Amino acid sequence: MIIRTRFAPSPTGRLHLGHVLAARVASDLARQSPDGRFLLRFEDIDAPRVREEYYSGIEEDLTWLGLHCDGEALRQTSRTAAYEIALEHLRETGLVYPCFCTRREIQEEWSNMAAAPQGPEGPIYPGTCRRLTRADSQEKIAAGIPHAWRLDSQSAFAATGPLTFHDLRFGTITVNPSLLGDVVLARKDIGCAYHLAVVVDDAFQEITHVTRGEDLLASTHVHRLLQALLGLPELVYHHHPLVVDKDGKRLAKRCDALSVAAMRDSGMTAGEVLEKAMESPRP
Ligand code: GLU
Repeated sequence: MIIRTRFAPSPTGRLHLGHVLAARVASDLARQSPDGRFLLRFEDIDAPRVREEYYSGIEEDLTWLGLHCDGEALRQTSRTAAYEIALEHLRETGLVYPCFCTRREIQEEWSNMAAAPQGPEGPIYPGTCRRLTRADSQEKIAAGIPHAWRLDSQSAFAATGPLTFHDLRFGTITVNPSLLGDVVLARKDIGCAYHLAVVVDDAFQEITHVTRGEDLLASTHVHRLLQALLGLPELVYHHHPLVVDKDGKRLAKRCDALSVAAMRDSGMTAGEVLEKAMESPRP
């Protein structure tokens, strides 16, 4: 099997140590096989946060680190038609529904509930718009009320039946559709969203092994479900540990001291930066 991996940063900042680890894990895995490919994908659909100079800045950081990507980088903003086709397919199956809730309405609903449904990152969507009748939804759409599209996770799971995915670190994992609930597949503001875009693009780029931080493990349950619904290939995963700062907190892009550019400017060599990323403390 020819291994194809990808590194998928958002061009909303320069690379930091967490990205270095992610890129290194993806590159190392691809380079294990002579014909392996290590691809770059810019996850740039969140337009308000993207800045043009970060595309070249990230490529410059990767080149300096010696992590050379194969071929041209893919930009998700060039792929919106493919996301729309996938969403349309899901609409036809009746397993997605329009959601008109504002953030504030969702928060109010949570506070009115005796116990808001919980996911690993906090409360999950309470399913308000799933309970709208088709006629009500259509009326709201016709009235031009802005809406997102959400996955009806329980119905989707009923349609696919039990699913698993394999992770090189955690072994075989059984998909739990309730973990993140009815996730957004197309945002109100930009018309697409991470979960659907990543699944469509991993298939498009013929990725065989998805390597990424363990904070995205819960998302993989959704991704496996979407792959099954869309008839896309099943992939192997490797969710690696996260790089944390000295207080045990996950690194953020604003943590400039640990950006590759800052470390390079302080005189560190690429080898030292790669080593620091690989041996960074864990919580
Ligand atoms: N764009 C995501 C990030 O920068 C990576 C998503 C993925 O690897 O699936 O964290």
